Amino acid sequence: MNNSEEPDSFRDRLSTIGEQGNRVWVYPKRPKGPYFNKRLVFSYLLMLFLFGAPFIKIKGDPMLLFNIIERKFILFGVIFWPQDFHLFVLTMITFIVFIVLFTVIYGRLFCGWVCPQTVFMEFVYRQIEYLIEGNHSQQRKLDAQSWNFDKAWKKSLKHLLFFTFSILTILIFIAYIIGIDQLKDLLEKGPKDNVTAFVAIFAFTVAHYFVFAKFREQVCIIVCPYGRLQGVLLDRNSIQVSYDYKRGEPRGKHNPLEKRENSSKGDCIECGSCELVCPTGIDIRNGSQLECINCTACMDACDAVMTRIGRPKGLIRYASERTIAEGTPLKVNARVVFYSVVLVGLLGLIAYLFTIRTDVETTILRVQGSMYQEYDSAHYSNIYLVQVVNKTRKELPIRLVLEKPEGEIKMMGDSLIVRKGEVGEANFLVVLSKELLKSSATELKFKIMSGDQEIEEMKSTFVGPNKLDDTDDDENDKAGERKE
Ligand code: SF4
Ligand code: SF4
Repeated sequence: MNNSEEPDSFRDRLSTIGEQGNRVWVYPKRPKGPYFNKRLVFSYLLMLFLFGAPFIKIKGDPMLLFNIIERKFILFGVIFWPQDFHLFVLTMITFIVFIVLFTVIYGRLFCGWVCPQTVFMEFVYRQIEYLIEGNHSQQRKLDAQSWNFDKAWKKSLKHLLFFTFSILTILIFIAYIIGIDQLKDLLEKGPKDNVTAFVAIFAFTVAHYFVFAKFREQVCIIVCPYGRLQGVLLDRNSIQVSYDYKRGEPRGKHNPLEKRENSSKGDCIECGSCELVCPTGIDIRNGSQLECINCTACMDACDAVMTRIGRPKGLIRYASERTIAEGTPLKVNARVVFYSVVLVGLLGLIAYLFTIRTDVETTILRVQGSMYQEYDSAHYSNIYLVQVVNKTRKELPIRLVLEKPEGEIKMMGDSLIVRKGEVGEANFLVVLSKELLKSSATELKFKIMSGDQEIEEMKSTFVGPNKLDDTDDDENDKAGERKE
């Protein structure tokens, strides 16, 4: 914060928007240090998973699939068919609640370590940029200079690599939606047979390239809804990358001849290293800001300075506002307790739904509006509809067995074979002997079989003539009369 400015005046404007509303391009200094190294390893592991997962199959199906077009989802080998959509939605809601809860406690740890925007930006695109154009000051010089051969080849090569990585990312993204086999098929057939698909791939690639080549930190600052939510999710106990103003203030230049701890100055030597490395162009010493993605670059930079001047590390560190202001340990507040209860409840509900989830779901219903029919002089019949949802990975030939009472099932049309992930249905008649019927509503018990394997047991009702009840009533009445 500039001393001549009002306190908090930095909040009136974005550091990346100039006085005239122009974009102020951020040239962050190449970060280095222990936190950066850990994030580098973690990011490459994440990318390995992201780019490798579509190639991994479990029992012939992709390990992960998010086919929103056909509403088919696979999470680590568990297939969610359209009939399981409620389970998938619940899992996603739980995930969102988890993120909220996590954010309340750990702040924007997700943004700095896991978010694809940060991972791609800091560990792919910016690394390419550093490699070709050099560090921040060289990049600034290159952009300021007029076009010549050196600038032309550097810019061309950089953008060519940016675009290539964008294509790869979009193809992988599509593999998560349609599966790697379909993607291979699509690419082999070429644009002639799939004009729309190729136009879509190109459009997404251009959008992706634009985000990382030009839009960059603006995604985190003005677009990302998660970033916008920080204002309501974070409180004084949330852990964030924070500047220890109690220790750092009052700032003052470093003097190698004076013992800092004996002077009236705080530990911040106003070197500006923390600002130089910040990819969103802010000064963390101003306090917690929505632009901060908790990338830890300023922590590394300041730790290096502290080591150089012989002061303890951690002037900028992971801490909560309360920890810094009061020196108290992290406290569990009412909000954390509430979110935890909701999360545990949702996890319990999901676990319950998973335990009652079956691979095959059957429904048997008497055809709507139908009554009994005189099948022949000795039998009545009812017409039914059987629906079978096959959530297994194989085709299921379905056979119905009438367990109770004694009777016959006559399938109408072809035998019922349900393909994987599909719903099959067929009509059938249940034929019962008139002699056996004792009332107008007789309970039926079916066994649903696939080959010799019993899949499920189902119940339904067979409707007979009302006179059967009358006969029963008459007989009861007569019996009652006899008793009297
Ligand atoms: S890097 Fe540390 S010492 Fe340097 S300005 Fe930032 S907070 Fe102060
Ligand atoms: S303030 Fe620090 S942690 Fe936040 S974005 Fe800038 S460099 Fe990263």
